[in-house]
Amino acid sequence: KGERLRLPPWLKTEIPIGKNFNKLKNTLRDLNLHTVCEEARCPNIGECWGGGEHGTATATIMLMGDTCTRGCRFCSVKTARKPPPLDPNEPVNTATAIAAWGLDYVVLTSVDRDDLLDGGAEHFAQTVINLKQRSPTLLVECLTPDFRGDLSAVEKLALSGLDVYAHNVETVRELQKFVRDPRANIDQSLAVLRHAKAVNTTILTKTSIMLGLGETDAQIYSTMKELRDNGVDCLTLGQYMQPTKRHLKVQEYVTPERFAHWEKVGKELGFVYTASGPLVRSSYKAGEFFLKNLLE
Ligand code: SF4
Ligand code: SF4
Repeated sequence: KGERLRLPPWLKTEIPIGKNFNKLKNTLRDLNLHTVCEEARCPNIGECWGGGEHGTATATIMLMGDTCTRGCRFCSVKTARKPPPLDPNEPVNTATAIAAWGLDYVVLTSVDRDDLLDGGAEHFAQTVINLKQRSPTLLVECLTPDFRGDLSAVEKLALSGLDVYAHNVETVRELQKFVRDPRANIDQSLAVLRHAKAVNTTILTKTSIMLGLGETDAQIYSTMKELRDNGVDCLTLGQYMQPTKRHLKVQEYVTPERFAHWEKVGKELGFVYTASGPLVRSSYKAGEFFLKNLLE
């Protein structure tokens, strides 16, 4: 398995651009917002920012800096034991900028900050509170760290006014220790998702799994089942892509047909929605899926 796999044709296709795309692109410049969509050069930007048939524009914003205290083997974010301190003005400034931007659905995410006492939960929560004050109809998803399993941190965020509480388990149970930082594990992640829902039954919980890391079908199925058994509402499945040569190799390019199969399985297991496809990322068209499935 020394050779790198060739990129299959379905990962090279052109992606459509929705109608809001240019408007968002043009107004972003003055707002000093750091979008994961642009910084990670996400291929879905045209679809997410453009909105789909519901015109629901989604973007992902990174809070708490660009340096993580962990080092997962699939992720190319910079790592340090003690990243620079948080910017105390970030919650207000970010909320003001997002509210001015004209989004329908925002995903707030962050690096892991194990150097902070509460892992940054208060900082996240303040951003949501400020955002909802300025833009009450904007749908807010937080894609959070595991806060080292600190359930009081989870609770603070779950009660901040957000609509979707997302935390990624990243891979099947069997591959956790090969893929994620050793401080992360699936039981801790499931406890986070369960607790968010337990303290606030009005929110949706959401998680994401990458495929192509060597997992078997049986392992995918049992992990999906376990997520449902823990009350997780929404699931996304996408292809793992190796960010640099130093990161885990892709073991398999899963075909669009297999992704469609897992979407069907997700439906049968009773997820509110399952978004599954080679280019699907955890925030992929999150606003579209949210509205489509909750309004139907
Ligand atoms: Fe990347 Fe998140 Fe892992 Fe940090 S915790 S290395 S940001 S995946
Ligand atoms: Fe942005 Fe996520 Fe959509 Fe990519 S999938 S464009 S990061 S919202």
